[in-house]
Amino acid sequence: MTATEIRRAFLDFFREKDHKLVPSAPIVNKDDPSLMFTNAGMNQFKDYFLGDRVPDKRRVADTQKCMRVSGKHNDLDDVGRDGTHHTMFEMLGNWSFGDYFKDEAIAWSWELLTDRLGIDPDRLYATVFEGAPEEGIPVDDEARQFWLRYLPEDRVLYGNKKDNFWEMGETGPCGPCTEIHVDLRSDEARAATPGRELVNVDGSGVVEIWNNVFIQFNRRADGSLGNLPERHVDTGMGFERLCMVLQQKDATYDTDIFTPILSEIERLTGHRYGGSYAPDAKSDMAMRVVADHLRAVAFTIADGQLPGSGGAGYVVRRILRRAVRYGYSFLDQKEPFMYKLMPVLVREMGHAFPELTRQQEQIERIIQSEERSFLQTLENGLQRFAALETTDGTINGRDAFELYDTFGFPIDLTRLLAEERGLTVDEAGFRTALQEQKDRSRRDAAKEVGDWTVLSDEPSVFIGYDVLSDAGARITKFRTV
Ligand code: ATP
Ligand code: MG
Ligand code: MG
Ligand code: MG
Repeated sequence: MTATEIRRAFLDFFREKDHKLVPSAPIVNKDDPSLMFTNAGMNQFKDYFLGDRVPDKRRVADTQKCMRVSGKHNDLDDVGRDGTHHTMFEMLGNWSFGDYFKDEAIAWSWELLTDRLGIDPDRLYATVFEGAPEEGIPVDDEARQFWLRYLPEDRVLYGNKKDNFWEMGETGPCGPCTEIHVDLRSDEARAATPGRELVNVDGSGVVEIWNNVFIQFNRRADGSLGNLPERHVDTGMGFERLCMVLQQKDATYDTDIFTPILSEIERLTGHRYGGSYAPDAKSDMAMRVVADHLRAVAFTIADGQLPGSGGAGYVVRRILRRAVRYGYSFLDQKEPFMYKLMPVLVREMGHAFPELTRQQEQIERIIQSEERSFLQTLENGLQRFAALETTDGTINGRDAFELYDTFGFPIDLTRLLAEERGLTVDEAGFRTALQEQKDRSRRDAAKEVGDWTVLSDEPSVFIGYDVLSDAGARITKFRTV
């Protein structure tokens, strides 16, 4: 099955089960200050779980554009290093708002994965919540019993609170979850080590694909747990991982979601993709990073979040600069090139996400100009980095700040460069230097107010050729490199 057919099969399956198919919410979260990017399918339905809004349909399914690069879920450092974590990915989901519960949710997960999609039942594992008696949360024996209809006892495992209990926050709706894992290893490897020992072990070949959350409790302010008046189901399945399983690949990058992009990178750069994850296979890693980050940047721009100097915009810029540097150092790309990948991305994904097609030209222009401006200082910044003196293998905060301020190196890029050379960065020192500059700038801005213009007292600093502002871009100072 192609990726397009797989996405369709998921949605069709739940439509047959009387679910209403809804569009993905934007990947950028404009109205929720607590969450910059959509990081799970349930984000757009939060109000239903809180009881603040009544859904017009109790069963819903979709594919949701997600991004995990900040806050509670930050997978950025894994991207390119493993074959299962992306910055931007699609989360397939089905929901019950006060309608069906554990029985149907588990039955349908099983039916879809095995009967409909043909996954070998012998390769599947399920985890259920082991309970937390000290907090008054019971073991999820219900879910376990439902799984035992399909799976033998030794493939229904207990999981801890970190993996198998979901909470919206300190208080509010919460509940146990059950996760489905697939053992993708060879028969010999499976005979040697049982998959049950490798569930939740990253890179082991046993891959988590689907999380089914059962929202049944309400955590009160005093810490006690009550039952919710209505019980809900919230599921999320990684689309790229599902494609990897169904196409029998070892990594999402080997599925037809990514191979057209990787081929285009090969064509543009003259490097070959070898699919290696060895630490010294730098160009393979760089190709994965570029392919992944291109999607993240293109999708966020399409949803209205441009790269910028503060907030979500700076996150997008950081991702893009990370990719540009990988291209520069390991794929010999000294000129903008990522924007040239857009036609392939649009060809592959534009039918499922027409917002990409509609804005293709604008997205290309923005990516190209971001690439160009960073490339102007990248070479000098890398030379400066190579010449830095370190104490005890640590780059001091002032130097990290100089790289940021003068050469536009986000701190996570400096950290990455440091890691590649076995060094660390004094990030506390970096933050102090950054704060000092903000304070200076605020004082300067205050001085200028009487003279010629009214300026905000929000801290904002011009860094090299671009702007940094925590609170929305209000420019106060220019300083050219
Ligand atoms: P993992 O343990 O692999 O990091 P998770 O437990 O953090 O995944 P969930 O929050 O349970 O993930 O999200 C539901 C599903 O979304 C996962 O089972 C997985 O298939 C998929 N998923 C999660 N994070 C990513 C990611 N960074 N890239 C691609 N798919 C992901
Ligand atoms: Mg995770
Ligand atoms: Mg997990
Ligand atoms: Mg999970």
